[in-house]
Amino acid sequence: MEVKVVKFGGSSLADAEHFRQVAKIIKADDARKFVVPSAPGKRFSADIKVTDMLYKCYEMIKNNENIDEQFSKIADRYNGIISELGLSFDISGELEYVKNAMLHHSGRDYAASRGEYLNGLILAKYIGFDFVDAENVIFFKEDGTFDEDKTNREMRDELKRHRHAVIPGFYGITPNGTIKTFSRGGSDITGSIVARAVDADLYENWTDVSGFMMADPRILDTPCTIDTITYSELRELSYMGATVLHDEAIFPVRYAGIPINIKNTNRPEDPGTMIVPHAHTYDHDRIITGIAGRKGYSVITIEKDMMNSEIGFGRRVLEVFEENEISFEHLPSGVDTMSVVVETKQIDDVRDRLLNRLQRTVRPDTISIEDGLALIAVVGRGMVKTKGTAARVFDAISDADVNIKMIDQGSSELNIIVGVEEGDFERTMKAIYDEFVK
Ligand code: ASP
Repeated sequence: MEVKVVKFGGSSLADAEHFRQVAKIIKADDARKFVVPSAPGKRFSADIKVTDMLYKCYEMIKNNENIDEQFSKIADRYNGIISELGLSFDISGELEYVKNAMLHHSGRDYAASRGEYLNGLILAKYIGFDFVDAENVIFFKEDGTFDEDKTNREMRDELKRHRHAVIPGFYGITPNGTIKTFSRGGSDITGSIVARAVDADLYENWTDVSGFMMADPRILDTPCTIDTITYSELRELSYMGATVLHDEAIFPVRYAGIPINIKNTNRPEDPGTMIVPHAHTYDHDRIITGIAGRKGYSVITIEKDMMNSEIGFGRRVLEVFEENEISFEHLPSGVDTMSVVVETKQIDDVRDRLLNRLQRTVRPDTISIEDGLALIAVVGRGMVKTKGTAARVFDAISDADVNIKMIDQGSSELNIIVGVEEGDFERTMKAIYDEFVK
C-alpha cells in the first residue's frame, strides 16, 4: 500500500480556512497517512508568524517583562482557528502549561517548538489522526547534532503502531530531556525524516507556491516552474540562494531515494515540482533546469612568477584561509595567478590579518582583494549531453554588454558558474534566462 508523508508549511496552516483546505487535501488521498505541520504562519504580509511571537515572549521573559499581552495574542491565534473550525477542543490547559513552562525558563527552543506542538494537536483533532509528539521520536545527541540512527529506529517502531498520525515539525529532544529545534524552517527536515523512517513512496511538501521556479521571481517576471529536478541540481541551486525547501531537508530522503513533490496548498491541482534521485531525461527545449545567484562575494588574487612550478603553493594559500576559518567558494587559477573567491562577510573582520599572513606565507609578487562580485549558477543535467551550452551562456552575457569576471564549470558538468560585477547581476540573470527559456 502506497504511503505518502505530507508536510504543510506555516502559510498552509495560518488560519481556519487553510486548515479546511489542508484537511481536504489529506482526505483526498488515502496514501497521505503521516502529516507534519508547521506553526501558523502569516495570514497577510504584515502579520507575524507564531514562531516569531514565541521567540519574542522568550526574549521578554529574559528581560523580566510581563508577557501576558504577548502570550494572549498567541493564544488568540489558536483559539481563533479552533472556534472557526467549530471544534469542541479546549486547548486552554495546554496553553497555560506552555506559558508556565516558559516562565520557568524551559529555554528558547522549547518556546519556539510550541508553535508546531499546539498546531499539531489541533490538526490531529480536526482530521481525526493520532498525535505523535516529536519529542518521542526525534532525537538529538549530547553534542546537539541530530541522532539519525536512534531517530530512524524509534520513529519507525512508533509509527508502525499508527494507521494515521500527525507529527509536529521543527523539534525533537536531547538526551537530558530538553527540547531542541532544528534551524528556522526546520519542519521540512522533520517531514523528510518521517518519510525516511516509514519508507514512504513520496514526500509531499505543501507550501504556497506551485514548485520551484527556474529563477528568482523578484528578479525575473514570472519565471517558469521546474517540473522535475534532481537532488544534485537542487543542491546547486539552493546553495546559490534559491529557497523553497530547507537545505538540510534533502538528505534523509535523498539517502533513501524517496522523491519529494513540492505542491501548492492553494492550487492542489498544479503538478508542482518533483525532486528525484536521478533523471535520465530532460526536456530538449530546456537544457537549463534553473538559474540562481547571489551578490556579496570577494576575490583575493595572488600573483607570483613561476607559481606553477612551486609545489605546495596552493596548499599553503588554502591553509591561511583555513587558519582564519574562512571557507572558499571557487579557485579559478592561471599559470602565475591563483584567485580565491569567498563570501565578503567572511573576510570583513580579518582582511588585514589575512593579507599579512598570505604575504608572509607565500611571498607573492602582488596580492589584492576585489569586492562586489556576484556569482550566478546556471544548472542543468541537460548540459552534459548538449554541446555549445557554455558558448550560449557566454554569448548571451556578452550580448547584454556584461563583462564576465570569473568562470567555473563544475566537474560534474551540471553547472556553469559565472562571476560578474554586482551592478550587472540582474541583467545577467535575465540575459541567460531569455537565451534558454524564451
Ligand atoms: N515554525 C518554524 C519556523 O518558522 C519551523 C518551520 O516553519 O518550518 O522557522
